Amino acid sequence: MEVRVRYAPSPTGNQHIGGVRTALINYLFARSTGGKFILRLEDTDRTRYSEEYVRNLYDTFKWLGFYWDEGPDVGGPVGPYIQSERFDLYRKYAEQLVQMDKAYYCFCDEDRLQKLREEQQASKTGEQGYDRHCRSLSPQEVKEKLEQKSGYVIRLKIPLEGTTVFHDSLLGRIEWKNSDISPDPVLLKSDGFPTYHLANVVDDHLMGITHVMRAQEWIPSAPLHKIMYDAFGWEQPELCHLPMVLGQDGHKLSKRHGATSLNEFRKAGYLPEALINYVAQLGCSYEDGRDLYTLDELERLFKIEKLNKAPAVFDYQKLEWFNGQYIRQKQDAELAQLVRPFLIDAGLRKESDPDADALELKAMVLVKERLKLLSEAPAMMAYLYRKPQLPEAKEFLPKKLDLAATIAMLQRDLLLVDTIDFSDILKAEEAFKEYSVREGVKLGDLLMPLRVAVTGARVSPPLFESIGILGTAEIKERIQASIEWLSKALEQSESPEA
Ligand code: GLU
Ligand code: ZN
Repeated sequence: MEVRVRYAPSPTGNQHIGGVRTALINYLFARSTGGKFILRLEDTDRTRYSEEYVRNLYDTFKWLGFYWDEGPDVGGPVGPYIQSERFDLYRKYAEQLVQMDKAYYCFCDEDRLQKLREEQQASKTGEQGYDRHCRSLSPQEVKEKLEQKSGYVIRLKIPLEGTTVFHDSLLGRIEWKNSDISPDPVLLKSDGFPTYHLANVVDDHLMGITHVMRAQEWIPSAPLHKIMYDAFGWEQPELCHLPMVLGQDGHKLSKRHGATSLNEFRKAGYLPEALINYVAQLGCSYEDGRDLYTLDELERLFKIEKLNKAPAVFDYQKLEWFNGQYIRQKQDAELAQLVRPFLIDAGLRKESDPDADALELKAMVLVKERLKLLSEAPAMMAYLYRKPQLPEAKEFLPKKLDLAATIAMLQRDLLLVDTIDFSDILKAEEAFKEYSVREGVKLGDLLMPLRVAVTGARVSPPLFESIGILGTAEIKERIQASIEWLSKALEQSESPEA
């Protein structure tokens, strides 16, 4: 039997890491078994629905680069794949359950239900939920009410006694007392909209879903769904409830822990490869215990048996580390394209700017080893686009040198750079070393202030490469500016009123 799995999000928010993880596990399972991965939009909650969330869903998965085989946008044999386009079906199946005496019309209006809730609260018996008032209406009473055109909902008959048993591939046998299931949940609302339970079960069945892999928070729905499958005489898909994802503090992963929406991860400069690789390994191991896998490899290696039962802990640092690894694997040209939007956003360059394009292509070797997030690129590279803002004088000082001595070093640098060919980094380094030996000055004393003059900071991408990219003329201007800057500081420190 061909495996068919689905991701069934409700477009009531932007895609977040939990949803992506559910989707990815479903996708990997489908690929690893030669099955199909389906997207179904569960948009029955119209009050929280927004077109924007649907767009965000498509955008996110296009960006991530793994996609469904069947879905609203790509079609497929068992569509429509949007629940709001299937409303007639749900009514038909709800009515069918009523015919089979597995469900019933409930004519209670909001007033009665409200009163019921108040009474339940006041009585303190702990009783909760619907009191099954309409479950015992006679066929005659029902007929009359329908003729009077009274509004109604359709409720599922939860067996009054006994237990419901279902099986989960990960958690094994799960038993649920029927008395612990919400008394007679609504399947079809008075406005004709299905509830999640009805639409979910009908669609999983009609779409030939063989395995339901979803977050553990859906376990309480499973017994209820089992009762519906049994009522219809359908086979329930194999269930596999995925372990929770927690923050480092053991609480369910949320905004408090860091980015959770994919928009945020994207804006922070994570690569899809890194996210996929990290998320795939949340609570799941792959054959050979490596750290980095391609999507292809994950598709081949995924095994349901390798899923952990225990909750997974989301480690932002590890994800960041992964991201850095994937950045290092990029070719310069591709990496340059990836950082470009960040540089544009930071105002370092215009959208179309061939000079900047050329500069960045050369600059990637400088930053590739140091970037963990693409969003770090603007701060790291700003000095390549414009003269750096010069820091306080003390930032320029090598150990044991004072301001005057530091200025003298910069003056040496100024003369020296003119004599050196920076197109050959090794030779340039050699030339500096020779000079320092010949002149009896420390190499570090020459280089520290030079670095600050060129990049604006004591820690920066490689200095000689930077000089090579910026060119000698520009470097001399920067050294000159630093000499002036430091000379002013020196004057001030020497003036009596300072
Ligand atoms: N629409 C549900 C959700 O938002 C689907 C749950 C399920 O997979 O059954 O997650
Ligand atoms: Zn009722």
